[in-house]
Amino acid sequence: MAYRFACKMEPGVGCRLIIAIDGPGGAGKTSVGREVARRLGYSFLDTGMLYRALTWLAICKGIGLYDGPRLASLARSVEMELRPAPPEAMEPSILIVNGEDVTGALRRRDVEEGVSIVSQVAEVREALIGLQRRIAAQGGVVVAGRDIGTVILPNAHVKVYLDASLEERARRRQRQLQEMGQKVSLDEVMAQLRARDRLDSQREVAPLRPASDAVIIYTDGMSLEQVIEKVISLVEERCS
Ligand code: C5P
Repeated sequence: MAYRFACKMEPGVGCRLIIAIDGPGGAGKTSVGREVARRLGYSFLDTGMLYRALTWLAICKGIGLYDGPRLASLARSVEMELRPAPPEAMEPSILIVNGEDVTGALRRRDVEEGVSIVSQVAEVREALIGLQRRIAAQGGVVVAGRDIGTVILPNAHVKVYLDASLEERARRRQRQLQEMGQKVSLDEVMAQLRARDRLDSQREVAPLRPASDAVIIYTDGMSLEQVIEKVISLVEERCS
């Protein structure tokens, strides 16, 4: 469906907004953010991919996931590059780490289980701030994560916090993993999400929480299309 983006501010330039979408795992940030970006002609950045890539790299190098100093120096020395993925690809971007395409490894079980431990390390978060801000700087971008509206892009024009019940999020994540060829039980997905929710919301640095000026959308009972339309209506409101 072609989407007509009626901009009542400065046509073109004035509507290259920065849209932050935060929320827990499985809340639909990637599906919603990617499609909102596509319809608006914006780019999309899924910041979870960056933390996943660093976790994957740490595992490959045999670095302990609680080894803060070595994780910090890994984060400071790593080179990451994001390239647009074809529309039909499962992941929204291709992620090149130190010259290697690591996109296919980001949903591995060991990465899934380790990523919230690695992302607690303050220096790891610090090392990834610059890349995230550089990508968003030109506007016309949707950025999804946990701390986008609170820490990374506090001046984002539109801030959305997507939430849903644990059961609903687990069902969505299980479906997504199945589409990627991974067989996991609903109980297992629920346990993983519960553990990540706890770590992500209780960590000291940049914990998961809605920004004070975010619009909270609770998506149980809403279709993907309804959530997308709601976010686009917020963008249009901001542009008018
Ligand atoms: O969004 P996704 O589930 O891929 O994120 C994986 C993990 O990366 C999160 O559970 C969280 O620990 C970390 N993350 C983060 N800050 C972000 C994005 C992701 O700490 N902005």
